[in-house]
Amino acid sequence: MTQPVDSGLDPHAQDQLVEKLTDIHSWLSEDLDATLIRDTAFRDNSERVSGKRADSEGPMPFDDDAAEAARELHGALRSAVLSVCTERGLTWPGERRSPYLAMWLARHIVSLAVCDNARHIAATIIAAHKTAFHAVDTPARPQFHGYCEVCGQSLWSRGGETLTCKKCRRVVDTDYQRQRVDTELEARLFTANELVDVVRDRLNLNIKPKTVHDMAYRRRDRLPVRGRTRDGQKLYRAGDVFHRLRTQLSRNASQA
Ligand SMILES: [Zn+2]
Repeated sequence: MTQPVDSGLDPHAQDQLVEKLTDIHSWLSEDLDATLIRDTAFRDNSERVSGKRADSEGPMPFDDDAAEAARELHGALRSAVLSVCTERGLTWPGERRSPYLAMWLARHIVSLAVCDNARHIAATIIAAHKTAFHAVDTPARPQFHGYCEVCGQSLWSRGGETLTCKKCRRVVDTDYQRQRVDTELEARLFTANELVDVVRDRLNLNIKPKTVHDMAYRRRDRLPVRGRTRDGQKLYRAGDVFHRLRTQLSRNASQA
């Protein structure tokens, strides 16, 4: 395999890019579209034709920032997909909308990471993500709330007491869903590397894989190893790790 011309993307840079791509795929692109539609939908007809002859069929005014952001985003994703396909010999997925392209890139992140212009691609997408983020009406970041119990669709929300599934329209209590996600997650087994992401997501804490391994070596309250992956990595139960981190946090808080 040839080395990329720029230094490529290390695992951390890959994670960062996947995070942005997930935003785009799961909500950002859709919010951008909604911003465009809302802006035109709430104008009455007299406003729509202001500055133009009333009988002209000129383009409707819309949010220029949102439109430009949507164009920039789609352009960045499209050319990234083209680069990856050309350089890595993958099949071009065809002309697609931004959410699809973002998902495609997230799935092919390892191929993207070794492209000649990998860093340039990542920088372009991250910049377009930022522009889009600023252009949407409500730029607060929605939180991931696991998957719909009925249809499996991923659930995102910006707060509120209930969540509505976009696919099957089922309404679920946010607290109930949060509990369900925690319970389900706490029972699952992860490697120390995976736990770094899980802990960041659920406890908002930055740990290193070594933090987890160290827990499995200490004398008191030792973290049990619950299994091994096929390639011999130790597996830990997320709940076991959460419990130890929470204990540690409250101990630190009481000492401070
Ligand atoms: Zn559903």
